[in-house]
Amino acid sequence: MKKIFIDAFKCAGCKYCELSCSFYHEGKFNPKLSRIRIFKEDEYGIDNPILCSLCSYCPCINICPTNAFYRNEKGFMEINIEKCIKCYKCIESCFFGAVFLHIEKNIPIVCNLCNGDPQCVKKCPTKAIVFLEPNEFAKKKNYEYSRIVYQDFLNKHGIKIKSD
Ligand code: SF4
Ligand code: SF4
Repeated sequence: MKKIFIDAFKCAGCKYCELSCSFYHEGKFNPKLSRIRIFKEDEYGIDNPILCSLCSYCPCINICPTNAFYRNEKGFMEINIEKCIKCYKCIESCFFGAVFLHIEKNIPIVCNLCNGDPQCVKKCPTKAIVFLEPNEFAKKKNYEYSRIVYQDFLNKHGIKIKSD
């Protein structure tokens, strides 16, 4: 199943993802209503996008006392607001802090991949968030990492590759 993967080192912190998410779900350009959030890690100088990772075991589903938090038929997380009692156990228990609070309605919100067509991915100018099959993403990362190691080796030994 395709998932959204994150490469925090590529994130420029522009928040286009947050704006496109809030507009799609809420009809407003307000980052505080987004299902994806950029957390600034100033100590390391990176911007870190956080959103639901579609874990195979999701504690939020298990802890929700009313079964409001569930995985839909496509495998994405959803919250049935009619059943939600606002106990916020889902916000407390998410492994990645990826369940947020809707600041106007005081209800929990979570990424549902825009039902399979994630808007944030389309808007990200640096491709820091990508929508791929897990094996495609793993191959991409393995290739990128091996290029870094290879370039480092060439630099250390003063080797220059001739280009045509
Ligand atoms: S809500 Fe949190 S724990 Fe549950 S699948 Fe998403 S990231 Fe994982
Ligand atoms: S806040 Fe709502 S969705 Fe979250 S655990 Fe409580 S009842 Fe379930």
